[in-house]
Amino acid sequence: MSTHSFSKDDPRPGSVLLVAAPSGAGKSSLVRGLLARDPHLRLSVSCTTREPRPGEVDGRDYHFVRQAEFEHLRDAGELLEWARVHGNYYGTLRQPIVEATREGHDVLLEIDWQGARQIRARYPSAIGVFILPPSIEELEKRLHLRGTDDPAVIAQRLLAAGGEMAHANEFEYVIINQDFTTALAELCEIVRVGRLRFGAQSARHSQLFQQLGISV
Ligand code: 5GP
Repeated sequence: MSTHSFSKDDPRPGSVLLVAAPSGAGKSSLVRGLLARDPHLRLSVSCTTREPRPGEVDGRDYHFVRQAEFEHLRDAGELLEWARVHGNYYGTLRQPIVEATREGHDVLLEIDWQGARQIRARYPSAIGVFILPPSIEELEKRLHLRGTDDPAVIAQRLLAAGGEMAHANEFEYVIINQDFTTALAELCEIVRVGRLRFGAQSARHSQLFQQLGISV
């Protein structure tokens, strides 16, 4: 079987990049850095039922929705995937992803392992990147810096982080975020190399491939 086959929802040159991490690994900063450096990459804005954090903007960071609205979107088939994470619902809207990839844009999804599995079922060529902290001590330290020192809360976050990291082996690439600049360069490199994959290149340059007699 061809390794670059596209599914029904995946007919186009734009790639899907899945980025997952336990909280405290520095995923959001790395994703922001990547988006600032790569004008061809679009960030998927997820829906969530969790409350906005200070500074978060509706429509930019998330679409903040009530549970009833989330369930409506899910039941109407408008979500490409959804999952319950830390007691809240999160989901990816189907339409923007289908449209962006159809137009040839690469799309980045910040997503948990459950969502990543569902996306892979529809987009077999999706590239998965898992971001790890450099050590358990460092992860603990970063979780402490997140506002509370309540040992019970920290313990709960560490447990959740362990649960997420148990699925790191479902991702093609792993970045260890010890040094931010190095980790960001590695993430940029993964995106760059992803664009050179046979499936991406043959879709992007279909006329050339046809002219050269290369079967896709
Ligand atoms: P946070 O609430 O801290 O922004 O995100 C919590 C977790 O939910 C993170 O692991 C994040 O990757 C995940 N997440 C964010 N958006 C989505 C989504 O659309 N689908 C899924 N499955 N997980 C998501």
